[in-house]
Amino acid sequence: MGSAFRLSGLIILLAALLSPVGLRAQQMRPHSILVLDQSDRRGPFYYQVSVGLRDAVSAHSHAPTTVYTESLDLDRFGGEAYQEGFRQFLEAKYRDRPIGVVVTVGAAALELALRWRPQLWPDTPIVFSLVEEADFKRLQPPAYVTGGIVSLKLKDAVTAARAVMPGLKTIVLVGADWDRQVLFRNWKDQAAAGIPGLEIIEIIGRPMSEVVERVATLPEHSAIIYTGLYSDGKGNYYPPSDALAFVAASANRPIVVAAETFLDAGGIGGFVIVPSSIGAEAAQRALRILDGEAPESLPPSAVDAVKPIFNWRQMQRWNVSKASLPKGSEIRFREPTFLEKYRWRAVALTAALLLQTMLIAFLLHERFMRRKAEVESRDRLSDLAHINRQATAGELSSSIAHELNQPLGSILTNAESAELILNSPTPDLQEVREIISDIKRDDLRASEVIRRMRSLLKRAPFEKKEIDLNQTMREAFDFLRLQASARNVAVYLQTSPQTLRVKGDPVQLQQVILNLVVNSMDAMAKMPYGRTIIGRTEVNGDASAVISISDSGPGIPQDRLNDIFDPFFTTKEQGMGIGLSIARTIVLAHSGQLWAENQSGGGAVFHLSLPLAA
Ligand code: ADP
Repeated sequence: MGSAFRLSGLIILLAALLSPVGLRAQQMRPHSILVLDQSDRRGPFYYQVSVGLRDAVSAHSHAPTTVYTESLDLDRFGGEAYQEGFRQFLEAKYRDRPIGVVVTVGAAALELALRWRPQLWPDTPIVFSLVEEADFKRLQPPAYVTGGIVSLKLKDAVTAARAVMPGLKTIVLVGADWDRQVLFRNWKDQAAAGIPGLEIIEIIGRPMSEVVERVATLPEHSAIIYTGLYSDGKGNYYPPSDALAFVAASANRPIVVAAETFLDAGGIGGFVIVPSSIGAEAAQRALRILDGEAPESLPPSAVDAVKPIFNWRQMQRWNVSKASLPKGSEIRFREPTFLEKYRWRAVALTAALLLQTMLIAFLLHERFMRRKAEVESRDRLSDLAHINRQATAGELSSSIAHELNQPLGSILTNAESAELILNSPTPDLQEVREIISDIKRDDLRASEVIRRMRSLLKRAPFEKKEIDLNQTMREAFDFLRLQASARNVAVYLQTSPQTLRVKGDPVQLQQVILNLVVNSMDAMAKMPYGRTIIGRTEVNGDASAVISISDSGPGIPQDRLNDIFDPFFTTKEQGMGIGLSIARTIVLAHSGQLWAENQSGGGAVFHLSLPLAA
């Protein structure tokens, strides 16, 4: 930074030594700018011009430059007396403040500066800004005057109007009297010349009340082109952007504008002049002159300050798509889309949803695996129960054989008797009939034994259905009765008077009962007499059914009451120790409970509780 500064200083010094004129100019020009603004800078447009100018001056850091600004307020004040008074005021005010360059804003300000120069700043160059082409030609400024010429064309505004209104037929020009307009005065002639294929309505120089009324009922396929209104026609003055807001509030067609500061006030956009560029351009010329360049070496030229800019909000209102705008258009006031506005919230929400989905998927998988495991364990249980039943069947086989022998024996005896009767010369057919009916009964008895045996031995999958627990209990006890009498055990069954509806697998539940009764018979095997088993069914409240099987055996050692349900726990020589563990597993699979107690009068009692079906 320091070395750059030194280097540029050296270059300036060398240039000054080589050129005596340059040296003189450099010495004579103080680093100060007086801005003469034709407006009073109330409105945003002129304010933006001065912002652009000041920013450019501040950026010019190598030589601090003072900026003075005077607002001539020529919109509202004029006449010889006012102008002369202002000149005297400036003369007095800046008597001891040398001015390096005068910058004018607007053609009217340039006109006054040219007139005042011989008296106020005889040697000071003038840089003009915001001067329209026609004004420039009219004023024909001398060589010490330079600046940027602005060119705004009605043709460009029409291009913008066609972009925002498909099938444009009419343009409606809204603005102050042409002669009062600074930048758009020449549009008067351009409008008068006409535009091929378009009708032109002029609402020019009319009071605000009339303007507002007329813009509300414009024909279809028309667009407004707004140049600027400065008063309401009743002596009230306002910045033209404020006036535009009134017009926009009642207009029934989009409003094409030609100044950047009209965008915010309700204009849809167009080829707009950017005021800060005007200020910046003027400042750059002024600074070059202050740095030693002669104004003659910077001839006036067109300034590039017009850009196609459009208002997104108004585009939405008039349904104008981006595609229909002129090439290279800039869009302002675009509201961020939902995603742009809530980007992080949307990302967080999506992440949360994703996480939730993953969690749900995981839980579903988990559930599926648990179901699968449950099915597998039930299959195993069925297999194990089947083995257990086969063992029981083996144990019961002698009594079953006995049970089958009985009917088979009487069938044989009856058949022989029938044969004898039939061989006699006068057979008693009535008796033969009775014998045959006995044979049938015995045959049914035998096949019933076989049916029960087969049902005990069948490998059935675990299957729950609604059953009556009393019925299940009765069938199991019937099956055991013969075995019991063979082992000298008295068996009693007391079922509850009401039916006990439970959801369960009848084969499996019968097996539980069978296991408990066979265990009781085993426990009493060594007793010389008094072997008794009592089966009971009852309801416990509204919720469950309870089966109890008690015996008159020795009971279970108190500290073993739980262990007996463990797999492979047995106290029997030939025991496998799986009967009770299978029984408990079956009961748990039915959401029930199985537990053992000792009776106060001796003997063990097993309780089995199952939830009643709703
Ligand atoms: P196992 O009959 O093959 O021994 P269990 O699981 O059916 O296998 O029984 C385990 C043990 O529980 C038996 O060995 C016995 O000690 C005890 N037990 C079962 N029922 C009774 C009962 N009613 N009275 C006394 N002890 C019993």
